[in-house]
Amino acid sequence: MASTADTTGLTFTRNPHPAPVAADARAQVLANPGFGTTFTDHMVEIDYAEGQGWHDARVVPYGPIALDPAAAVLHYAQEIFEGLKAYRLADGGIALFRPEANAQRFNASARRLAMPELPEDLFVEAVRQQVLADKDWFPTVEGGSMYLRPFMFASEAFLGVRPARQYKFMVIASPAGNYFKSGAPAVSIWVSDYTRAAPGGTGAAKCGGNYAASLVPTAEAFSRGHDQVLFLDAAEHKWVEELGGMNLFFVFDDGSILTPELTGTILPGITRSSLLTLAAEEGLTVREGRYSLDQWKADAASGKLIETFACGTAAVVTPVGKVASRDGEFTIGSGGPGQLTQKLRQKLVGIQRGEIADTHGWVSRIA
Ligand SMILES: *Cc1c(COP(=O)(O)O)cnc(C)c1O
Repeated sequence: MASTADTTGLTFTRNPHPAPVAADARAQVLANPGFGTTFTDHMVEIDYAEGQGWHDARVVPYGPIALDPAAAVLHYAQEIFEGLKAYRLADGGIALFRPEANAQRFNASARRLAMPELPEDLFVEAVRQQVLADKDWFPTVEGGSMYLRPFMFASEAFLGVRPARQYKFMVIASPAGNYFKSGAPAVSIWVSDYTRAAPGGTGAAKCGGNYAASLVPTAEAFSRGHDQVLFLDAAEHKWVEELGGMNLFFVFDDGSILTPELTGTILPGITRSSLLTLAAEEGLTVREGRYSLDQWKADAASGKLIETFACGTAAVVTPVGKVASRDGEFTIGSGGPGQLTQKLRQKLVGIQRGEIADTHGWVSRIA
């Protein structure tokens, strides 16, 4: 694999959209943005070629891209992505939440998929350029944010099987509403017979391929009337790993909180990592370890387990109320959102929006 070229001094050219979305049409979207359906006026592109490194960083009008039909990504799925949000702060400024953590994870994913790394400062600068180009696209609804999707794919036209020699990195942005307005409703999850990630596989990388493999189990969960799919480990089909796109936490009556440990088959969520820190600050005993489906069911029945929640950038913190598998189903607590779940959610959201003091240097102000 090619080494990453020195990119210090790479500057972004800007090509403003000649016909951006009209102000009244944009205002309509921003009043009710939903999630992932509307995109802003601009996008960032940076190209990579072996021997040349990263080059041609640019902000351009949002729109379709031309791709050779033999581009390796279309055949062998050499693609990775990230997801983070920009927030309007209480004082009117704009901030990203822990963008260096996304940059680091992006490069960890790149290494696993045999792709070139993008210098961390270039990743963060690309995201910053994207947000500033479209700073009129922040939702006006409470709890709104700008969802950012940096991604990289193999663009080389070549059907042989080896790491590609050309790549494209892009950032697109989408105004996002609040998943849940006040007090998130508890979701129902289906424990899949399919697995998501095997030891030695790509479970810890944020790659499109993991999601492609999760679509049938997710559709199955939906058709059975559940909101999310849960995956157990691939080797023993016993240990709880994570949901299709969110990490899990278990809250116990002795003041402890547990999340599955990062063994290489679980995606290391930045929300997960932030909540581990916040939970410890709340005085909880924080544990990362294994937890079996059977134990979970027994602890829910005995009352030892009082809350379960899922977490990720998009929905922040989502309470789990019901768990169903082929062996039957069980309810957690009263089936509604738990107290600690709500407390941690409020704390995290408050920090992200500049309403609660950021004592960890997580909030990265860009305007
Ligand atoms: C992105 C993702 C998460 C959550 O990560 P965050 O950094 O908290 O958004 C969890 N699981 C999977 C499979 C993911 O792709």
